[in-house]
Amino acid sequence: MPPQHKVIAINTPPAKPRPCTDPDCRGRHAPAERIALAESLCAARGNKLTTLRRQVLELLWERRRPTGAYELIEALKRRQARQVAPPTVYRALEFLMSQGIVAKVESRNAYVPCLHPERSHDCLLFICAGCGASTELEDSRIERLLAEDAAKLGFSMTRRVLEVAGTCGSCVAAGPR
Ligand SMILES: [Zn+2]
Ligand SMILES: [Zn+2]
Repeated sequence: MPPQHKVIAINTPPAKPRPCTDPDCRGRHAPAERIALAESLCAARGNKLTTLRRQVLELLWERRRPTGAYELIEALKRRQARQVAPPTVYRALEFLMSQGIVAKVESRNAYVPCLHPERSHDCLLFICAGCGASTELEDSRIERLLAEDAAKLGFSMTRRVLEVAGTCGSCVAAGPR
């Protein structure tokens, strides 16, 4: 009987990156495909999605909600069954952000995977105070308005992550607790 991970590796073909061209996409992408896409984006830029970088990205995709560095470090320790040096995790996060693969949610001091690292766009995040889930949207109208406002100010924008706090549809439907 071969080890479990060998069986999975044989039965599951590696995911192929499929760049998304739907401007109104609501983000229904398979995590494995998005991770494969991140890997190919890194490779095209001459960078490598190392094991640690990949594991951090996988954990963020598994959670689908803003996740803090401390929680990631603890999850990595469990996954690897050994100590994980926090600075290496911070460096992995910095790398993933520099590649547009992960975004930082400042209001939560946490991180989310970017749905569409294959195209440059602003990150518009709706974050539920009830269940903690975050939903990412792209809205070209808001991007245009921000660009116009910045131009009026002569302001050069770098980080454009918009965070909207509130209650998600499922939590609204569930009513007050
Ligand atoms: Zn998409
Ligand atoms: Zn919710």
